[in-house]
Amino acid sequence: MRVITTIHEMQNEIKTQKSLSKSVGFVPTMGFLHEGHLTLLKKARLENDIVVLSIFVNPLQFGPAEDFSTYPRDFNRDKSLAECEGVDFLFYPSVEEMYHHSSSVRVVVQERTDVLCGKSRPGHFDGVATVLTKLFNIVLPTKAYFGIKDAQQVAVVEGLITDFNFPIELIAVDIVREEDGLAKSSRNVNLLPEERRQAAVIYKSLIAAKAAIEGGERDPQVIKSLVSAMITSGFKGQIDYVEVYSYPQLKDLAKLDGTCIIAAAVKFSKVRLIDNIILEVSQEIGGAK
Ligand code: AMP
Repeated sequence: MRVITTIHEMQNEIKTQKSLSKSVGFVPTMGFLHEGHLTLLKKARLENDIVVLSIFVNPLQFGPAEDFSTYPRDFNRDKSLAECEGVDFLFYPSVEEMYHHSSSVRVVVQERTDVLCGKSRPGHFDGVATVLTKLFNIVLPTKAYFGIKDAQQVAVVEGLITDFNFPIELIAVDIVREEDGLAKSSRNVNLLPEERRQAAVIYKSLIAAKAAIEGGERDPQVIKSLVSAMITSGFKGQIDYVEVYSYPQLKDLAKLDGTCIIAAAVKFSKVRLIDNIILEVSQEIGGAK
């Protein structure tokens, strides 16, 4: 595995690989790797000749009051894990390398961002789309791998790839969870021990919602109330949102029907966690999977 820190070197290497007709699988991350990231890497390894992992904590996607400076980082550990997963190139640019001059262009996401995390994190998805546009142009991937854990991000990236005609196949990968159901996240290390225990209720509430839908419930308001009540009875964290939308359009629903997402975001003392469940809902009772 080679660690590459400059855009120029990364582009030269990709040019060589492309001239050899190699397919390139790309996994963009902010590092502090866990099993969720490793699952994306394993899939990329299986499906491509070359695997590129990027580690870049992108300041553009953090708001002024968010956790950019405390976001966990451990490059040496990440490097060993990446090596074990058979990554060919680890692209690890500095902030100065990625944004070394004041940018004259930024990508603005027009749809799918007025809800969920986009609502409480203004500018977040513009930052994500801007850095991904740069990374896609640097790495020129054949396939790019993203986790459904960030379901809104997947919806936004789908729009970015389609609207900007990137010749890239987006591969969405299921959520990897801890034993108690908590979605794996780099941010979980910033939970206090008591918060870590309580955080499992987020997924439990989503599972309860799924069971209610399987039992015939189709009213989004009832589902939202059920999830919120379970979360608030489980701990003192603050709910940022509990929402039910169509997926990937992220539109309001009068009644659950078709592909739907139930998503929650919860604030703890130092971290904000997100989770979701995506379901196919039919009008028959029990019609959810
Ligand atoms: P991040 O480093 O948080 O930006 O995540 C990098 C990629 O890993 C994103 O596509 C995430 O959706 C994905 N990811 C993060 N956590 C998980 C998880 N628990 N399961 C599957 N994918 C994940």
